Amino acid sequence: MSEGLVTASYIGATVLFILTLGGLSNQETARRGNLYGIIGMTLAILATVFGPQVSGSLSYILIVVMMVVGGTVGITLARKVEMTQMPELVAILHSLVGFAAVLVGYVNFMDETITFGTHAEKVIHEVEIYIGILIGAVTFSGSIIAFCKLSGKIGGSPLLLPARHFMNLGLLIVTIWLGTLFIQQAETGGGTFPLLIMTLLALTFGVHMVMAIGGADMPVVVSMLNSYSGWAASATGFMLSNDLLIVVGALVGSSGAILSYIMCRAMNRNFISVIAGGFGTGSGTAATSADEEQGEIIAIDTQEVAELLLDAKEVMIIPGYGMAVAQAQHTVNDITKTLRDKKINVRFGIHPVAGRMPGHMNVLLAEAKVPYDIVYEMDEINDDFPDVDVSIVIGANDIVNPSALEDPNSPIAGMPVLECWKGKTTIVLKRSMATGYAGVQNPLFFKENTRMYFGDAKESLDAVLKIIQSE
Ligand code: NDP
Repeated sequence: MSEGLVTASYIGATVLFILTLGGLSNQETARRGNLYGIIGMTLAILATVFGPQVSGSLSYILIVVMMVVGGTVGITLARKVEMTQMPELVAILHSLVGFAAVLVGYVNFMDETITFGTHAEKVIHEVEIYIGILIGAVTFSGSIIAFCKLSGKIGGSPLLLPARHFMNLGLLIVTIWLGTLFIQQAETGGGTFPLLIMTLLALTFGVHMVMAIGGADMPVVVSMLNSYSGWAASATGFMLSNDLLIVVGALVGSSGAILSYIMCRAMNRNFISVIAGGFGTGSGTAATSADEEQGEIIAIDTQEVAELLLDAKEVMIIPGYGMAVAQAQHTVNDITKTLRDKKINVRFGIHPVAGRMPGHMNVLLAEAKVPYDIVYEMDEINDDFPDVDVSIVIGANDIVNPSALEDPNSPIAGMPVLECWKGKTTIVLKRSMATGYAGVQNPLFFKENTRMYFGDAKESLDAVLKIIQSE
């Protein structure tokens, strides 16, 4: 394939990737967006593999073998992974992008066949290597810690080392100093030592940065690492002089940065203070004795839930992480259909950080074929709660916690929440009195107009569906 054809294919792939991002911004066009992405990626791979940079049958054999191995692992993972494990899968995949950037950086550093037209070009290449390895290593170790936190392998509480801000500042200064040392030593063919030390420091920084972020702020971490993986890919593109990788990396990097900003705004957080860490506490622990001070809860049974729903005119469904765990979305859709057939207005209220990854609830509801036009973002419906007869909270906890608004000392203080308690009645479906991801007790459960309906969300809703279908 000629250089010109490769360039044309790269431009085509770039346009397709931009269309992908546009498509993914809306549920109706998301499938089309994915299709553009698949075509763009196929074009990019074909143009790279058959381009002038790859030659010799050994290279082709290696590429085919690696693609078969990688593809098999990818397909197996994608088929096996549960919807609830999606966030940790995304985190671990980000770590691979970081790892690849580190490896490409070292290979570039050791490659003695690369020639440069001018001295300035050589220095720029060394800076690219240094920055590429730096971003890659932070992404790699940070993503592994995020994977461990999201999968519950390590606790959600923030690690608050004494003088941690000074430690981060110290790491930054030493990294810059090592960078200058690296460039100086690379002049005479050296530089391995500062590069290795910087890699170790970057790995440490990645671990510390994510460890310091509390459970409640994990959504920002997920989107931030998404952004880092894009910049790591972009840095790899610079090292390999591959324009497409630079552009695609920048697209991922900037869209991840925008997503981090949106998540911060949704949680009413300042990005810098999230990264500096310290918010949020433990995750999913059983409620403590503080419950007794909160008052009594009122539990109800299946029949009462069905009656409340059938007597309502306005129903608001608020799904959370527990709906994903229980895989209750199809039953939720059947209940929605049945109630709407009975002329009851049913709407969905989606909190931006519900579940364990951005858009988690929207994906589940789309999978169950819930009509898009009754699914609303929090901002669109939060003022409507006084007119709602029954809000049904399905496995959600932190996103409906009034203490975010009422208790300035709460780890989730300031985060906007779905204010369902302003409606007539709220039914909360969960299995126990355990806390949500942020590890804070929820005063909603103790309000006079709240009814607790205990049990697995799918089993509970199946039972409710049976009754309302027979009425
Ligand atoms: P929460 O984690 O606050 O609450 C989920 C609730 O679901 C739990 O209290 C649990 O209670 C209940 N539950 C679990 N399994 C079941 C089941 N099978 N049936 C019924 N109930 C069940 O989830 P939310 O969606 O309310 O809030 C999301 C939280 O996750 C926020 O703190 C957010 O910051 C954080 N987060 C979000 C990310 C994102 O990108 N969206 C990423 C990382 C973290 P019980 O055990 O008693 O059943």
